[in-house]
Amino acid sequence: MDTKPILLLSSELAGNKLTNEDCDCDCACAVSSGLISGIAPLSNTLISLPNLNFQKIDDEYFVVFNPESNVDISVVNPSTRHTLNSFKVSRTIKTGDDIDLITKMIKSGLLKADDDLIENSERNTLQVLSAWLHLTDRCNLRCSYCYLPHVREDMSSETGRASIDAVFRSAQLNGFKQIKLKYAGGESLLRFPLILELHSHAEKLAHEHGISLEEVVLSNGTLLTEEMAKTLKTLSIRLMVSMDGMGHYHDSQRPYAGGRGSFKDVSDAVDLALSVGLIPNISVTVSGRTAEGLPDIMEWILERELPFSLNFYRENDLSTSQQDLQLDEQKIINGMKAAFKVIENNLPRRGFLGGIIDRANLSAPHTHTCGVGENYLVFDQNGQVAKCQMHIRKPLTNIHAADPLALIRADQIGIQNLPVIEKEGCKDCEWKHWCTGGCPLATHRATGRYDVKSPNCNIYKALYPEALRLEGLRLLKYSSSLETF
Ligand code: SF4
Ligand code: SF4
Repeated sequence: MDTKPILLLSSELAGNKLTNEDCDCDCACAVSSGLISGIAPLSNTLISLPNLNFQKIDDEYFVVFNPESNVDISVVNPSTRHTLNSFKVSRTIKTGDDIDLITKMIKSGLLKADDDLIENSERNTLQVLSAWLHLTDRCNLRCSYCYLPHVREDMSSETGRASIDAVFRSAQLNGFKQIKLKYAGGESLLRFPLILELHSHAEKLAHEHGISLEEVVLSNGTLLTEEMAKTLKTLSIRLMVSMDGMGHYHDSQRPYAGGRGSFKDVSDAVDLALSVGLIPNISVTVSGRTAEGLPDIMEWILERELPFSLNFYRENDLSTSQQDLQLDEQKIINGMKAAFKVIENNLPRRGFLGGIIDRANLSAPHTHTCGVGENYLVFDQNGQVAKCQMHIRKPLTNIHAADPLALIRADQIGIQNLPVIEKEGCKDCEWKHWCTGGCPLATHRATGRYDVKSPNCNIYKALYPEALRLEGLRLLKYSSSLETF
């Protein structure tokens, strides 16, 4: 092989690691506990080739990862593949080996070095405690899949402050270094003054306790004003806006209470936010009703270079009558693949692995689909605390508890968010460290169990290889390291 070896890594392209921004949607972030390997000197190290997943991108390049550790996604050319293959039979380093290339291959999980010599000392512990603050149950929209009854109740300023106090108490007692607050509802912008008040309170506590703070407003976008957008931008509070399709696709799922469609107002709000430099994250709920419209909304999102997440509809007690929302496998796969085609033709520089397929996070290996029961608190408008926003009416404790998180973690009756290796059908799946078996609540609703694979498994398995290929194409397009390796 006399061509130069090329090895492009997803982690080396900016904006493509597991961050909390990746999960600026309704759900709690994925829980990561992957090992970060330091590399010991290689001279006597026995190195072998794991069972890698290779996919062809074109006549020259392959995208590849190791399903057992999938630390990273890589793009390799024939020369690098040739080097990889030389480790099919375990061996040590020999004269003429490219040490830098081999070290990089080990770091990215493409080669496996003798375990004793890899310093698996650093473990990604749970760093971020996330909290949903249900500022109001009121909303001016009536979305088809909403799980809220929309009672006319708001969170008071006292309850809001006490909720934030409780978050910081739990953070301190459990060693968290970072807090993420989600200002949510109902429609959170109905309570904009409260957002500002709680932001000030949280900032003060963060400063006092040396804990870093990030905040996001989850909104339907319809009430956003220029002043609000500018204020959010100034205060470094992020904005997530829900948009389910262009025109009638969005309107069919997200009408106003009076029945009128909200698409025009929401799309205007996104452009308004952009005009003041606030970049909203677009959360798209994908259902059987709107799957066909995915390519158009994807084009709209990419034209504006926006971060996005494509989340699958989750049935709830209030939405069961709307049969056409259900995730018809073929419809969803076709719609998603058509959206992927649009991404392929307009490859964004910004990483998309954190939000491209429902609750999977392909940007880093992880063990749990979300933070439920681990590092997530949901405060309702009355100061009750639940495990998940979709179970907001099944609280387990309240703002007065000394450590609400301890009680949430100890619960054995509500949602059980198991690690993927405890889910039947997932243990040997090559996608398990990205997929982690799907939303536990959706699985339980479909099967009555938490310890089995997701009802959306066939959809996921049809889409993961495509998403991987897209990432390979993005790496090829934007990596500046093509000149080296
Ligand atoms: S249990 Fe499901 S709905 Fe609740 S936060 Fe986790 S992924 Fe989201
Ligand atoms: S739900 Fe399916 S795709 Fe996901 S980890 Fe389990 S078996 Fe794999």
